[in-house]
Amino acid sequence: MTARTIRQRVPAHEVTEGAGVTVHRSIGTPALRNLDPFLMLDHFGSDNPDEYIAGFPDHPHRGFITFTYMLDGRMEHRDSMGNRGELDSGGAQWMKAASGVIHSEMPRQTNGLMRGFQLWINLPASEKLSDPAYQEFSAAAIPEVTQDGARVRVLAGEFSGTRGVIEDPSTDVLYLDVALPTNAAFSLPLDAARHAFVYVFEGSARVAGDDLAKHTLAVLGSGDTVGITAGADGARFILVAGRPIGEPVVQYGPFVMNTRAEIEQAMADYRDGKLVKTRAAMRGQ
Ligand code: MN
Repeated sequence: MTARTIRQRVPAHEVTEGAGVTVHRSIGTPALRNLDPFLMLDHFGSDNPDEYIAGFPDHPHRGFITFTYMLDGRMEHRDSMGNRGELDSGGAQWMKAASGVIHSEMPRQTNGLMRGFQLWINLPASEKLSDPAYQEFSAAAIPEVTQDGARVRVLAGEFSGTRGVIEDPSTDVLYLDVALPTNAAFSLPLDAARHAFVYVFEGSARVAGDDLAKHTLAVLGSGDTVGITAGADGARFILVAGRPIGEPVVQYGPFVMNTRAEIEQAMADYRDGKLVKTRAAMRGQ
């Protein structure tokens, strides 16, 4: 048994996205371009409507998955597949953009706290042009496990015999939201084949005995277990892991492909209105 230690710390820094929304980005910055299979991690958290009210009007994606976990607040989603959903506090949304989706993500609140995460998960070349798919889950649908004082919400993958709501066979993603009381310890086995990170968003923690501050992402080194202890004010963090794809990553904004030519194709398809397949085309008609 080898405990995973902190290999790299990446403080999240402010980025303006969408129509003028403030997010705190860690993966997807010069300090950490990506962490295969993860392309980007944005943490949004503000009770100032000026920082979120503009939302994310219609925009495209191709070549990967967006996974949004709403901690507080309410967001409306509409997309070119014809889905319309409301993402509420504690809920999650998994959108496989694959060959192409155009969607909007707009706040359904004009005041109060809006807080959550958006993670971009890459797709292997064999799935980048497959049909898009969309799933959303309310807070009540997400299983919760209590163990030695830890409260663990299992969003994706498996924890202590409980499976999360999202299964991602291409990268075997594990996504846990863990809340620990003061000085409590939490550990789990985590196979060496998966890349993993921890992001603390309340309190503070120690990973394998090393301090980890709030709003800092820790890339974990190799090993087969993870051990995290909460600080004096407790801790709440996400622990995420996934199997690396090991293919070239060429990104241009919302398009993530394997080659420059595929990016140019995505831009041309978007410009020509061909990024998005119609429902009939998706059924092979
Ligand atoms: Mn989007």
